[in-house]
Amino acid sequence: VNMSVTEMFDLSGKTALGRGSSRGIGKAIALAYGRAGAKVVFHGSKPSDKLDAVVEEAEKAGIACEKAICDLSNEAETKAFAAEMDVPDILVLNASMQTYMGFEDFTTEEFDKEYSANVKANFILLQRALPVMKERKFGRIIGISSVNHYRPGLNLAVYASSKSSLMNMMKNIARSYGSFGITANTISPGIIATDRNAKILSDPKAVENFISWVPTHRIGAADDIAGSALLLAAPCGSFITGIDIPVTGGLHL
Ligand code: NAP
Repeated sequence: VNMSVTEMFDLSGKTALGRGSSRGIGKAIALAYGRAGAKVVFHGSKPSDKLDAVVEEAEKAGIACEKAICDLSNEAETKAFAAEMDVPDILVLNASMQTYMGFEDFTTEEFDKEYSANVKANFILLQRALPVMKERKFGRIIGISSVNHYRPGLNLAVYASSKSSLMNMMKNIARSYGSFGITANTISPGIIATDRNAKILSDPKAVENFISWVPTHRIGAADDIAGSALLLAAPCGSFITGIDIPVTGGLHL
């Protein structure tokens, strides 16, 4: 009550790692954390112009930042990355693979790849981060799930189930680690205009169709996700744990 609004959202002195923050939703969240005062690690699967560009943009805005590269669908690479990383105060589990395929067409190889990137990589990062956060008596874990948890998308059964799995894992961590000052929550984005769906969203008919499903009648932007991600990491969100925030314009209903 005695905090100013600035203090309520102040992340000065904190470090944040955005898993998959070279572009899209992860980038918007990591930039918001940086603007709130955190030191940020921007991460991508590979060296890219987009990763370089976001680091440049952040530096220009006076944000202390670093970049990190790791292909999180590769278990050995993920384990090496986890072992070497400086455990952040705020860990955003954002990157994912999303393959559209009919249930019967999915191969077990494809299934393993998607679950490695979307579930196992998070598990590996969390196994490394939780003991350190526990020792520090502070941790903010934000998983990026999906509206698919509520409305299973056609041809997305594997992706959608991986997102529900992430949500359940966050709830488990919320219960198990709450007494150590660690919170764990998820955000479920609706349809957000990012590279991932740029092709389909370039088709006006498809956009019209999508909008007809969304009560607020618009496609979201990556920045629409940043506010709830900031709340979950900020001092004013410290009593929020084990929840999911659907940021969907109502599509989850
Ligand atoms: P995006 O534009 O496709 O960006 C994906 C980010 O994840 C990039 O930074 C990418 O790095 C990284 N990444 C992808 N595969 C990776 C891998 N194997 N290892 C390491 N990093 C990897 O995605 P987005 O649309 O912003 O989505 C972000 C999250 O929100 C995802 O979890 C997605 O499932 C979820 N979501 C998105 C929507 C939507 O409509 N966009 C809706 C619901 C949920 P590189 O640049 O190096 O490739």
